[in-house]
Amino acid sequence: MSKEEYYDFNLELIVKEILRRKAKKVLVQVPDGLKHLFLPHLEELKSRLSNVDFIVSGDPAYGGCFLAEAEAKMLRADLIVHIGHTEYYRSEVPSIYIEAFSKTIASEGLIEELTSYLKDIHAKKVGLCAVLQHLNMIHKVKTILEENGIKVFIGKHGPYTRYNGQIVGCDYVSALSINDDVEAHVIISGGLFHPLGLGLATLRPIVKIDPYENKITDMSSYIQKILKKRYWEIMRSLDAEKFGIIVGFRKGQFRPKIISNIEEIIREKKKTSVRIVMDIVTEERLANLGNFFDAYIITSCPRIPIDNIVKFKKPVLTPGEAHMVLTGKLEKYRFPW
Ligand code: SF4
Repeated sequence: MSKEEYYDFNLELIVKEILRRKAKKVLVQVPDGLKHLFLPHLEELKSRLSNVDFIVSGDPAYGGCFLAEAEAKMLRADLIVHIGHTEYYRSEVPSIYIEAFSKTIASEGLIEELTSYLKDIHAKKVGLCAVLQHLNMIHKVKTILEENGIKVFIGKHGPYTRYNGQIVGCDYVSALSINDDVEAHVIISGGLFHPLGLGLATLRPIVKIDPYENKITDMSSYIQKILKKRYWEIMRSLDAEKFGIIVGFRKGQFRPKIISNIEEIIREKKKTSVRIVMDIVTEERLANLGNFFDAYIITSCPRIPIDNIVKFKKPVLTPGEAHMVLTGKLEKYRFPW
């Protein structure tokens, strides 16, 4: 399989939708990790739809929250083709979402290894979830686990996801909805990002089945390490008096209810805050704000405080952590909101 074939970009659906909607100018948005794999397919789209003007967004597409709506309006595009995520919010610009399912499927041997591991840790009832790219194998994993006597729960999708069992970096509702019924969660995913979020949200043991690396990993010790770091950030925010509340610029990351809820608690506690609108949050940008603020609360994307590679100098909190700091309810870690 060549690299361009690792994912199913569903070109037939893209062509069908562009023709059905009679779109003439199409803005294509692809997550950074998939850009180089999708671009070779653009040639085929251009030759099949020679009357259509395709424009590619070169900016990051972190999630469905980051839909390039403002760019589409500026360019007068009549359709956005957004690859690799499901719909996060209802946009004004007509948009289609292409799932880009992975063609790398976990082998039965790997799923049997997962079964043995779950038995070793005495997990007889597990939640099962997946990132969008691997949702196409969730039923295969469920079937094999159940054939081996493990009870599997797949929860209903949340507000920012489309399919049952699907999770994204800020929506673990599917797993949370069955959290009380299970002893551990299994996630079908590569990398650390989604297993970490799942662990922070559910506070249960997390076992990852990674089809890319063909590997089973117990994520619990890694998650505990990050949890300790998050508590350190929480502790150093307890005396903060002035909060900078980072407000998302992208429509999908603009969360007025969360902002007003946090502001209300800040007022009640006789502390102060200022809203700061920011598209992409970096240490450099926060440093430009000087020493005015004691801590920041990021309402746009709750992964920014946790996953930033460069450490922030001032305490930077998720909405859930801000709630813990402001209410003093520190026993149970709250993530993401
Ligand atoms: S985790 Fe952040 S980038 Fe991902 S969907 Fe949620 S808000 Fe968007």
